[in-house]
Amino acid sequence: MREMEAYLAQRIRTTGPITLADYMGDCLMHPDHGYYQQERIFGADGDFITAPEISQMFGEMIGLWLANRWQAMGAPTRINLIELGPGRGTLMADVLASTRSVAGFHDALTVHFLELSEQLRAEQKKAVPSATWHSSLATIPNGPVLVVANEFFDALPIHQFEFKDGIWFERSVTLDGDENLKMVLTEPSAKLALVPEHLRKPKGNAVVEVSPASIGIMRDIGDRLNNDGGAALIIDYGYDHANFGDSFQAVKDHRYCDALTAPGKADITAHVNFESLKRMAMDAGLQVGGPTGQGQFLMQLGLGSRASALVKGKSEEQHAEVFSALKRLTAPDEMGTLFRVLSVTDIDQEPAPGFLVGNGS
Ligand code: SAH
Repeated sequence: MREMEAYLAQRIRTTGPITLADYMGDCLMHPDHGYYQQERIFGADGDFITAPEISQMFGEMIGLWLANRWQAMGAPTRINLIELGPGRGTLMADVLASTRSVAGFHDALTVHFLELSEQLRAEQKKAVPSATWHSSLATIPNGPVLVVANEFFDALPIHQFEFKDGIWFERSVTLDGDENLKMVLTEPSAKLALVPEHLRKPKGNAVVEVSPASIGIMRDIGDRLNNDGGAALIIDYGYDHANFGDSFQAVKDHRYCDALTAPGKADITAHVNFESLKRMAMDAGLQVGGPTGQGQFLMQLGLGSRASALVKGKSEEQHAEVFSALKRLTAPDEMGTLFRVLSVTDIDQEPAPGFLVGNGS
């Protein structure tokens, strides 16, 4: 017990305060004591619930989108279908089930999962036995790709920089006199250079977040799309325009909690900076759709009709269940607006569905 606290204390005693990014990386992904190595994460008796766990309709719409992109690419005979951070594998299982009738698609695809947690790899194997697992995008074979990531980027470590009385500091984690973890301001690391130009001179005290890990993965995806062709769909909670603010948060048993009190026992996330992902893709010469709200995206893909078809001839109870899921996924005060959807595709294909045409969203 308390192995994670002991590990972090040892690390801090050896190296001094650790950046919030290192703290987040350890808490979530430590190979023995990290949060994602635990068994009870998703669902009602876990800590949080994600869109694919709410309803199969989510994966069905994503399946439609992916099959549409495969066709827009000219239906290549081989395609790497990649999911980043698949959780319990539910999304991919629903994607595969809902695209079975798309002629030639299943013969062409190979499923690749980017996942570090051994515990979740085992769960994913039950849901999608045919998948191949990777710890990095680099080991996924060459060739055109379809990439999907739901609630993956919010789990990637962020650095926080604090502008205080005219000086930039890094927010780091250290030990207090009682050996408890506490936040401390330290000299900024070189990652300060990733703060966008318009946020470098705050008028007063302010906090800014950057995620080098997210930028690195987006760059790798962009390279793949440019070299081999393909499409990527990124869904997460986040913001369209980078600004000052602290979005570092911890959740346990469906409630917010202090991110420093139970390391490895709570989910720690930060809101995703979609502006930086979008800019990376655009700078790489790729086509971008969104970010747009998850509600608008799903409804445009036909979620409403799918829900109606699902409940045809079903009981009142099943009716209520399907429409309550639809509401959760799409309502502005639930997941419909805070969750953003970004598509990135190579330039040789017609624009992706799900995004309003004409206003860039
Ligand atoms: N996409 C799933 C799970 C979201 S939780 C869903 O929607 O239900 C985040 C997922 O990302 C988990 O599977 C976690 O183990 C994985 N993950 C987090 N950080 C990662 C990293 N650095 N590399 C690979 N996978 C990571």
